[in-house]
Amino acid sequence: MAKRKRRSRAVNLTSWQKSARFRQIGSEAIKAFHAIRYKLPKCTAIAKVSRERCGNLAMTNGKCWCHGGRTPSGDGWHKPVWPADGPGGERKLNRKLAAIQRSSKRRERKLAKASAEERQKYDVWQKSHHPGSKADRARKRKERQDAAAFKASTEASAKPPSNPELDELERELAAARRRAAALEINLTGNRGIFG
Ligand SMILES: [Zn+2]
Repeated sequence: MAKRKRRSRAVNLTSWQKSARFRQIGSEAIKAFHAIRYKLPKCTAIAKVSRERCGNLAMTNGKCWCHGGRTPSGDGWHKPVWPADGPGGERKLNRKLAAIQRSSKRRERKLAKASAEERQKYDVWQKSHHPGSKADRARKRKERQDAAAFKASTEASAKPPSNPELDELERELAAARRRAAALEINLTGNRGIFG
């Protein structure tokens, strides 16, 4: 699980934040949340350490914040999320760049060990999964599906090339079979019931 930086205890609380009323409001809010927490959707990822279902609260895509819940979809799919400007922005950006470099090296190592079949599967996936706007990706997906359907239909309707020699032989074979059948009928007919 990714580590979340523990926030330091706020020491500069306002008098309102220190008041009993403020604490009561906070306490009631957290109790109300815990009363419904068990009903909320949970992350479906399998935790690496326990090998059990994660169980953290799920975000909109069904995964929690550390199992891909924050991974962008739609127009931001497959693109890095850069930190916003603000305090610690540069530090976050450097950390992000280092993480991208690390995963790139990990991918290279994995690919170096991949079998030819795995490599081909990876290449096919790469070819059909370019980042871009949602509409653009949907259009390309439709084009791929149409091309595959067209290819399948042309392959199904394509007849094997005709071979005049083979056709002639088949005609002769059919004629020979007809003559043999006629001969057999004649022989049976002449034999009579006692042969
Ligand atoms: Zn999770």
